[in-house]
Amino acid sequence: MKIVKLKKENLHPFLQAVSQDAELWAPVRLSNNKHSFQLIDDFSKIDLDYTRTILPPRKLFLPPEFNMFQASFQGYQEDYSHVTPKVLFGVHPCDLHGLLIFDQFHRQAFEDPYYLKARENTLVFGHSCWPDEYCFCQSTHTHIIEEGYDLFFSELDDYYLVWIGSSEGDDCLRLTPELFEESISEEDIKSYIAWQEKRNRAFQLHINFVSMPDLMELRYHHPLWEVLGQACLSCGSCSMVCPTCNCYNVNDHPVLGKNYSEIHRCWDSCMLENYSAVAGGENFREKRSQRLKLWYTHKLQAYISKYGKPACVGCGRCLVTCPVDINIYTVSRALEGEQVDAFWNRLANEVKQ
Ligand code: SF4
Ligand code: SF4
Repeated sequence: MKIVKLKKENLHPFLQAVSQDAELWAPVRLSNNKHSFQLIDDFSKIDLDYTRTILPPRKLFLPPEFNMFQASFQGYQEDYSHVTPKVLFGVHPCDLHGLLIFDQFHRQAFEDPYYLKARENTLVFGHSCWPDEYCFCQSTHTHIIEEGYDLFFSELDDYYLVWIGSSEGDDCLRLTPELFEESISEEDIKSYIAWQEKRNRAFQLHINFVSMPDLMELRYHHPLWEVLGQACLSCGSCSMVCPTCNCYNVNDHPVLGKNYSEIHRCWDSCMLENYSAVAGGENFREKRSQRLKLWYTHKLQAYISKYGKPACVGCGRCLVTCPVDINIYTVSRALEGEQVDAFWNRLANEVKQ
């Protein structure tokens, strides 16, 4: 793997060159001070001083709703209009790991052409980050990244060390070779090591994922799930913001005046009641406690058993999003036997009465 150096003042000229024939998407600060990956029409809108975006970058590969194909009595015609050449810039290591989990999921038993075509048409440029009080990617070993990007920008003072992760990334640098420096000095290396050590010490939140599969098994019938079920609003927000969640639904949209229907695919959540409803009026996970248990079994047990890592990349989005503080941190603490949240205690008492 090759590493080069880019002065910060050369970043926008470089992005200008690579986005000549592609949409550029990057983090932008919204009016509510939160960040979102947005289509960039003005480089000054790019804001790299962020911790997490509201939605993970998977929204670019499988949008919240899109038409998969048009179906008529004559047959069907696939629609890939959501796939356009893109450059996605500013992705943090945890979200790059989220995309790697997505790759695994959409390539395994059945290849998902809608995801894979979008992935093939997108250059992904990672960017270094600094943890806040909700980040715990060190516990999931997703705070560093060795693959899954075309270029990775590590920010140091007034320049970047740029890791080249693919031949496509290398081609990008060749568009403007005059902007990059090939020689990395001893001082640069020392700065990078010092930055990494400081960042490693900055993580405040830790989860012991190693014991989670056993604890999920041991507490499978524990009353804590009923307590959580009482608190959960069944809003599905935890799924919408999670970089590794991939539930979806498919709906027919008849096109009035035409002889076909559009078959739309839209984000869904196993936390929503209708997700498990089937014909005949049955629902296999009618209770919120059952749906919560499924979500956490997937994140903390099933994926670890199959792939040796949790289906969580430590991004902290469920921590900042759930309105009633049910998240991977509080649930893992509850599994460890701690009464960690006054809200749950109140509900637990109400349930007992
Ligand atoms: S479970 Fe929570 S912290 Fe883990 S990846 Fe999903 S949203 Fe991020
Ligand atoms: S756990 Fe929280 S975010 Fe998820 S569905 Fe329940 S209330 Fe909503």
